[in-house]
Parts: sequence; C-alpha cells; structure tokens
Amino acid sequence: MRDLLMIPGPVEFEPEVLQALGAPTLGHTDPAFIALFGRALKRMREVCLAPGAQPFVVAGSGTLAMEMAVANLVEPGDRALVVNTGYFSDRMAKILERHGAQVTHVRAAPGDVPSADEVETHLVRGGFKVMTVTHVDTSTAVLTPVEALVRAARKHGVLSVVDGVCATAGESFHQDAWGADVYLTASQKAVGVPPGLALLTVGPRAMEAWRARKTPVASVYSDWAEWLPIMEAYEAGKPAYFATPPVNLVCALEVSLGQILAEGMEARFARHQRMARAFRAAWKALGLRMLPTSDAVAAHTLSAVYYPDGVDAALVGRVKGQGIVVAGGLHPELKARYFRVGHMNRVGPTDVLAAVGAVERALLAAGHRSEPGAAVAAAQASLVAG
Ligand SMILES: *Cc1c(COP(=O)(O)O)cnc(C)c1O
Repeated sequence: MRDLLMIPGPVEFEPEVLQALGAPTLGHTDPAFIALFGRALKRMREVCLAPGAQPFVVAGSGTLAMEMAVANLVEPGDRALVVNTGYFSDRMAKILERHGAQVTHVRAAPGDVPSADEVETHLVRGGFKVMTVTHVDTSTAVLTPVEALVRAARKHGVLSVVDGVCATAGESFHQDAWGADVYLTASQKAVGVPPGLALLTVGPRAMEAWRARKTPVASVYSDWAEWLPIMEAYEAGKPAYFATPPVNLVCALEVSLGQILAEGMEARFARHQRMARAFRAAWKALGLRMLPTSDAVAAHTLSAVYYPDGVDAALVGRVKGQGIVVAGGLHPELKARYFRVGHMNRVGPTDVLAAVGAVERALLAAGHRSEPGAAVAAAQASLVAG
C-alpha cells in the first residue's frame, strides 16, 4: 500500500517537481540553468509578496535559513526579542545566543501566543536590534498573528525576522505591505520541494543593517557578502560561482514556485484555510482537543491534537497502518500527549477525507468511542460548505 505523507514536512510533492529533480543535472553555469535560477529568484519575491526584497536560495535546511538571518544581522552584544511560541522559537534563541546576542523572551503557555500589547511593551522600552517571530510553531501548530507584531517592530525601529518554515506559501503573509524585514523558510514544507534548500527574502532595511555591520559575519558560508553577488548575477542572466548550487533542487523550486503562482497566493492561502477548517470539524466530531487554545491562533498548515483518554503515541503507528503518515508530538513538555497532521502544499479535499478516515479507524481500533464515519461526515460537511 502506498502511504500518503502528511507530516509537517517533508510533504507530498507534485510529480512535475519530482521530475525536475530526476532530470539530467545541468552545469551550474549552463545558460538554461542561469535563466531558470533567475526565474526562481523572481518567483520568490512574488510568493512572499515582497517586490522590494532580495531573495537568497542556498543549499541547506530551514535551520540554515534561521542561522543566515541571525549571522548577518546580529553582532555580539546586540539585543534580540524572541516572541516565543515553542520549540522553533527556542531554536532561534539558541542561534541568536551563539552569535552573541542578548536575548529577551516574551513567552506564552504552550498553545498560546503572547499578546501584541505584551510584545509592544518590550519594544517600547527600546534597545532591541531584532525581533524574531515564528509564523507557525510546528511543535504546537500555533499561528502567531505576525502582521500586528511586525508592524509594531517597524514602528519602534526594530528589525523583524519571521520564521516561515511551516508557513511560507501556506499562511497569509504580505512581506512588503506589513513591513517584515526578513522572511525565511525551507523547501520541504508549504513551498513544495524536497528537503535541501534554505530560502530567505530580505527587505531593504535588513540589507542596510547588514551593510552597516562593524564586525565581519562569523560564517563564510552564511555571509550575504558571498551570496549577494551570486544571486544578483543569476538574476541578471550571468554565470557566477561561490559554492556549487544544488542544481536539481533549484530546478524543482522553479517548477514548484511556478505552480504556486499559477494557483495564486490568495487562492492558495484560502485553500489552506478551508482544509484546516475541515480538519478542525473532524477533530471536534471525534471529541479531540487541539493544542492551540483558540481557532484564532490555530495554524492552517498543520493540526496538533491531543490523544483522547486511553490512547497513546502508538496511535501514530496505527494511522500509518491505515495508509497515512502522521507525526508524534514535538514540544518538550507535551510531546507524549499529542500527534500532528501536516496539511500543506498540495493537500486537497481528497487527502483530508483520506487522513480523517485513517485517524478515525485507528482511534476506533485503539478503543476510542465514536460513531464510525462521524469525523469523515463532519469534514465533508465543512468542505461542502466551502
Ligand atoms: C521545520 C522548521 C524549522 C527547521 O527546518 P529544518 O529544515 O528542519 O532545518 C524551523 N522553523 C520552523 C517553524 C519549522 O517548522
């Protein structure tokens, strides 16, 4: 039986994207590759709604994208405000500290987000160079209301870095309009390309802050000074070399970003919202509770759901036995108590119904009491309502 991969990354990929990965590898200075890389960079701006930003496409995972943002913007002694919603916010803080930043956390209980007022209270006090926000914290499926936070950061002259690794191209985000300075992601989540690319769109204020550094960037591989001429050359249709680009992944990225733009950003955000609503209807019908404390802070790219009484992490294996791969918990305090279902990139109604049906069968087999078909019916009703 062929499993359907519904974890929060990597996700299911489109056949055309996978074909690009399997095509004969072009030389990295081949005119065909240069043209295609240039197009991928332009498409990055469109997907992030960031016409004024500088895109970077580099071999690495999302963690490298996080480290690149920090390594280029932060100098030892700089102060950083971490809007902390879980596991990946903690990772950002660790990276900031490693690069010499003094970190202040604004934390919320797992499943919740700090209020915009609380964040602003810190921003008003002043002294911060950067504020980091996790758009969707993949450990809790919490969606942070980033627009208000990045607008507040801008108002107080603080650079905003938004970790969009589980959000970009799935959750509504308008980088230029909202004034976010850095948006970063990885290829394998809602961007729809197998793992291996670190992606950033860097706005003009952040580029300026990088240019104004007093100390060199502590990592050669992360240094925008190495990558900027490369990205500019590819966009200008010229060959350039710093470190060999992951040619086939870049080809796959160009294809996936083309598909994303063909769907349209607003339509894509709306589809992710519809699929998330259908999942929420199903969890409710099953009597399950989600980690996010309210729908207002619940992500549209994944669900994090507590096991009901009498059911444990063995459920994940049972769901796989039903043909759907879901993930266990990740948040250190709660990880044995919940599971996660990714619903991003190409996920549509068929996948939703298949996943809900598999979870429902696995729960029934684990002894959970619910009416067979009730969860599927609830998801279907939600999908039909639109
Ligand atoms: C997955 C994820 C990361 C880490 O990305 P890797 O590609 O695993 O390095 C960082 N932040 C968030 C929000 C994520 O979901």
